Amino acid sequence: MEKHFAVIGNPVAHSLSPAMHRGGYRELGVEADYLRFQIESGDLSQAVQGLKALGFSGWNVTVPFKEQIIPFLDELTPEALQAGAVNTVKVAEDGRLLGHNTDGNGFVRSLQDEMKIEKGMEVVILGAGGAAKGIAMALIPYDVKITVLNRTPERAQQLVDLIKSQGGDAVVKPWEAGDWLNSAQLLVQTTSLGLKQEQYPFSLRGIFPETWVVDIIFNPWETPFLREARELGCRTLNGVGMLLYQGALAWEFWFGGQAPVAGMKKGLFEALPNKE
Ligand code: NDP
Repeated sequence: MEKHFAVIGNPVAHSLSPAMHRGGYRELGVEADYLRFQIESGDLSQAVQGLKALGFSGWNVTVPFKEQIIPFLDELTPEALQAGAVNTVKVAEDGRLLGHNTDGNGFVRSLQDEMKIEKGMEVVILGAGGAAKGIAMALIPYDVKITVLNRTPERAQQLVDLIKSQGGDAVVKPWEAGDWLNSAQLLVQTTSLGLKQEQYPFSLRGIFPETWVVDIIFNPWETPFLREARELGCRTLNGVGMLLYQGALAWEFWFGGQAPVAGMKKGLFEALPNKE
């Protein structure tokens, strides 16, 4: 019997998840389809019940519903509890709705394609929103040292407090270039600044050229921030790998076993608007 999956959000027309998951179905010959639904905030509860009633096996959740959906679910995985947000829902065999979060571990998996995350590594996270939180939580088991910089310092402090409450090592630094520039080994840009091709409010001049610099945005393919890092000699990575692996981990939550990453990547890259 064909299985049905979807992504819900608002806006959602730009979502590449259908192409990515369908690429996976093609690789394994799975009888399934993956749709996208734009939903108004006031309709979320009905939409969740509707998806369940229509026999959907699971769905992804994107902006702005990752936190709003929690009251409509029956159980959260440790990853969703820790992140306080859900990006993947599975309808269990008994009909219960299970909420999971694959964003942070998706980021870690994409990083591991490129580098080894070493114990004690100096990691600087720019931003303190939902994505920063998921990434920080997923990095805690690697015993890295995290520095958080955010435009709104109170939010940076909240994230640092959360990291520490989970056994991690973290400090807040001011929202500007500073001594971390020549000690960071991994710099992760998680703010939404690059989406509109906006320049970063500070320069990376002086950054240690061995630093890995990641911007979790991938449209534009290379944000002004990532371009500056590359021009300064740093190794760079955009957010497309994070998208791929959060999808692969969602697949594994739904189906079990190993996700068909090659097929998902093929589907994703065929649908990507600007790949350079
Ligand atoms: P949130 O709204 O939760 O957080 C936004 C962050 O950006 C905050 O730190 C906010 O700072 C900062 N910010 C926003 N505007 C500005 C500005 N003008 N100047 C400085 N800082 C700013 O969003 P998310 O964390 O969910 O998402 C952040 C980005 O990550 C988005 O662009 C999203 O597309 C991308 N993303 C990519 C994923 C992938 O798979 N590649 C997965 C998830 C997200 P402040 O606290 O001061 O408001």
